Amino acid sequence: MYLQPILQCKNHDCPSVAPIRLPYANPPKADEQPPSWPPDGWQLTLICRDCDHSYTYEKKDVGWANALNPADVAMWCVELQCNEPDCGSRTKWHLLDDGGMSENEIFEFIMRSDPLPLCGNGHSLVVSGATVRSAQTLSSL
Ligand SMILES: [Zn+2]
Ligand SMILES: [Zn+2]
Repeated sequence: MYLQPILQCKNHDCPSVAPIRLPYANPPKADEQPPSWPPDGWQLTLICRDCDHSYTYEKKDVGWANALNPADVAMWCVELQCNEPDCGSRTKWHLLDDGGMSENEIFEFIMRSDPLPLCGNGHSLVVSGATVRSAQTLSSL
């Protein structure tokens, strides 16, 4: 057994009660002390796959749970650039993939998340449009 960092979806009406498992490189054994992770100031914008709600999570939201297999999490990190003229704001969106979603499916999922995604300057990416600047799965955050 290993320790794996987890988040609980902040939507109280989320149909899933299972925590969201985060990728973590070289996780400690279950009987070890949880690492001091993530660092202060850490933030993650994560979209729940079960309810489509996105929230920004912080260090205080992260817990640790026992996991049999430490390496079975595919966490997508997608960087979107706002298409509003003279904006260019880039935002990062994270979600878990449990079944080999295509990059296009991931993009569509982000664009219909709740609340609808905004750029760093408050433009609706659904209205202004967005360009995928990078899309990758991360083995650690
Ligand atoms: Zn949820
Ligand atoms: Zn913008």
